[in-house]
Amino acid sequence: MGKLVQKYIDIAKEKNPHEPEFLQTVEEVLTSIEPVLEKHPEYIKAGLIERLIEPERGVMFRVPWVDDKGVVQVNRGYRFQFSSALGPYKGGIRFAPNVYPGILKFLGFEQIFKNSLTGLPIGGGKGGADFDPNGKSDAEIMRFCQSFVTELYRHIGPDTDVPAGDLGVGGREIGYMMGQYKRLANRYDGTWTGKGTSNGGLAGRNEATGFGIVFYAREMLKFFGEEMEGKTVALSGFGNVTWGTATKLTELGAKVITISGPDGYIHDPDGITGKKIDYLVELRNSGKNICAPYAKKFKSAKFFAGKKPWEVKADLYIPCATQNEIQMADAKTMVKNKAKFLCEGSNMPTTNEAIAYLQEHGVKIGPSKAANAGGVACSCLEMSQNAEHIMFTKEDVYRQLEGIMVNIFQLSVDACKRYNLGDNLIAGANIAGFERVAEAMMLQGIV
Ligand code: GLU
Repeated sequence: MGKLVQKYIDIAKEKNPHEPEFLQTVEEVLTSIEPVLEKHPEYIKAGLIERLIEPERGVMFRVPWVDDKGVVQVNRGYRFQFSSALGPYKGGIRFAPNVYPGILKFLGFEQIFKNSLTGLPIGGGKGGADFDPNGKSDAEIMRFCQSFVTELYRHIGPDTDVPAGDLGVGGREIGYMMGQYKRLANRYDGTWTGKGTSNGGLAGRNEATGFGIVFYAREMLKFFGEEMEGKTVALSGFGNVTWGTATKLTELGAKVITISGPDGYIHDPDGITGKKIDYLVELRNSGKNICAPYAKKFKSAKFFAGKKPWEVKADLYIPCATQNEIQMADAKTMVKNKAKFLCEGSNMPTTNEAIAYLQEHGVKIGPSKAANAGGVACSCLEMSQNAEHIMFTKEDVYRQLEGIMVNIFQLSVDACKRYNLGDNLIAGANIAGFERVAEAMMLQGIV
C-alpha cells in the first residue's frame, strides 16, 4: 500500500478509533482506488478523500417506547447521511442489537459506491437502532417504529434522504414508519422505499436484491467461461435476500444446497426449491430467527448446529446474512474444498484478510457493493415512480434490474482493464464507483 492512502487510513483511525467495521471498509476501498488518486492529483489537492471519509451529517436520538407489559424501554436511533454528491442520501435502516455508529458508518460508506455503481442519482446513507425485533409483538414493533420516526422525520424527505429496509426492517416496518412519517409531515411522498405496492411501493422490490445478485453472479460466471445451470450453490441466511437469491438461482437451473441462521446451517443435497423456498418466508415471519425447524420438516436436509455453511463443498458461495460472516478459518476451509467462486450478497461479508487469502488461492470474488446493488437500484425506481405518480409493472422492473446489473458488471470489468487489474472485480467495482462520486464532488466545490 502506498504512502498516499496510508495517510487517509491513519486519519480515519484517529477519528474513529473504536469502529473496526468502518475502518475495515475504508481500508478496502482506499487501497483499491490508489491508482486513481495517483492519476488525479487534483483530487488530493481538493481534500476529496478527507471529505469522503467524513459523513456529511450524523444524528443520534433517543427512541422511547412502551412494551406490551407497560414497561418503558429506551433505544438509540441513528441516521448517518454520508454523501449527497450524486443525489439525496439513500440507504436502509437496520434494527439489530449490535447497531452502533461503526456498523452504520461502514454501511453508509459502502452505500456511496454501491449507489454510484447503479448509475442512478442517489447519494449514500444508513440508519438504524440498537433494537432487537426478534420476539417482539406486532404492536411493539409498530410503537417502536412510530417513536423512531417521530424524531427521524425532520431529517428526511424525497429530495433529502430516502430510507429503506435492511436487517430487521422489512415491508411491515417500512409500512409503520411511512405511516407515521405521513402523519407528521402531512405529505404522501417518495420518502420511503420498500413500501407495499398499495402504499406506492414498487412491484418486484422484495426480490430485487436477490434477483440482482444472481444476475451479477451469472455475468461473473460467464466472464470466467462458465454457466449457472447445474451449479451447486451454498447460501447463508434465510431472510429476504436469501429467499430472492434462491428463487432466481433455481429458475436458472442452479441447485441451492444450504441456508443458515444464527443457530447453525441446513444442508439439503436434494436442493432447496419450490415449497422449501416458500418455507423460508414462513420461518422468517415466525420472528424466532432460527432455521433448525427446516430439517424437521424436510427429511432430505441435515441441520448442523453452531456451524457455518462454508464447510460444504459447492461450485458457488453466496453469503446473504451479515457482515464478516466469512473469516480466515472459513476461507481456509473453502480453499481446501477447492472453491472457485464467491459472490457477496450481504454487505461486507468477508474480512479483508479472508479476501486476500481467497484471492491468493485463485478464488474469484464478486464484491457486495456491486452484486447486491439491485435492491437499492430498484429503490431508486420506486423513487421515480412516486415522483411521477405512476406505477411500474413487475416486467418493467425486472427488465431494468437485469440491465442495471449487467451494466455494473461491465463497469467493473472496464475499470479493471483501464487500470491493469486483471480480474480483480473488487478493485474494479471500487474504482468504477469512486470515479463517478469523485467527478461529481469536483464539480460541486469544497462542500
Ligand atoms: N439496505 C439495502 C442495501 O444495503 C437497500 C437500501 C435501499 O434500498 O435504500 O443496499
